[in-house]
Amino acid sequence: MNLRNIAIIAHVDHGKTTLVDKLLQQSGTYRENQKVAERAMDSNDLERERGITILAKCTSVHWEDTQINIVDTPGHADFGGEVERILSMVDGVIVLVDAAEGPMPQTKFVVSKALKLGLKPIVAINKVDRPDARISEVVNEVFDLFAALDATDEQLDFPILYGSGKNGWMANSPDASHDVGMKPLFELVLKHVAPPVVQEGPFRLLGTIIEANPYLGRIITGRIASGSVKPNQAVKVLSREGKLIESGRITKILAFRGLERQPVEFAEAGDIVAIAGLTKGTVADTFCDPAVEEPLQAQPIDPPTVSMT
Ligand code: GDP
Repeated sequence: MNLRNIAIIAHVDHGKTTLVDKLLQQSGTYRENQKVAERAMDSNDLERERGITILAKCTSVHWEDTQINIVDTPGHADFGGEVERILSMVDGVIVLVDAAEGPMPQTKFVVSKALKLGLKPIVAINKVDRPDARISEVVNEVFDLFAALDATDEQLDFPILYGSGKNGWMANSPDASHDVGMKPLFELVLKHVAPPVVQEGPFRLLGTIIEANPYLGRIITGRIASGSVKPNQAVKVLSREGKLIESGRITKILAFRGLERQPVEFAEAGDIVAIAGLTKGTVADTFCDPAVEEPLQAQPIDPPTVSMT
């Protein structure tokens, strides 16, 4: 399966939800997904009631034969270490900026983490339909922000999309015909963002997001660094220092499909999935095949240092 893992970084109200909605619609994921959801409802109300198909923190859309996982990032610095871990799952970011408001200081922290992790940003100037849009000024502000955050020359050479999420288009020029839809965005993601790097070896996943589910218990979301995983597979959990935390079995694997997540029978390296069945393992721990000795290296977690002014 062809994969891309990305995050969208946006200040609140700059249009992330609307954009993702249009991406889902235009990629056909909604239609497919609704069919799946209806079938699931007919045949297995119980599964749904058990909370297996619940709204996810990640979304996936399909373009041609590629699955694009879109990870949600916390908006600002209150989530110091979490931002870093979440960004460690992706290979590219879209920095979405309102064409009138320009980049906001609250997103500076997340942008700085993305740049420090070496991610090559795509800049999307959104809401170009606003009468008060100041498109070229805002592009310059984004450039200045990246430069102030010590972006590399490669990162400063960012591709730019312009468009209106609300009107369903994103293109390489602000004057493009709206008929292009989101195709230019999909194509740019496929071209500019590298496929996930996967390592050799048995199943390993770095715990990245933890949540409690009333039916499934503890759910851990992360990117599969190597190998593959199936339900009922034996796994163990290693701490960052390599200490054994627990051994057990995977009871459920949830993959992201559109806005929902659905149980799957198999997932492989590169994909971002949620697993259930372990009770002690947590974020920054390595969930892995019992044969694995070395934990995955979590990104160093340091407190927010960027000034918010
Ligand atoms: P989020 O907080 O980043 O998820 O932003 P939303 O997607 O909820 O959008 C915030 C507001 O901006 C809503 O009122 C949207 O209707 C509006 N909005 C989103 N995209 C556009 C756009 O392309 N043009 C204009 N003019 N408004 C937009």
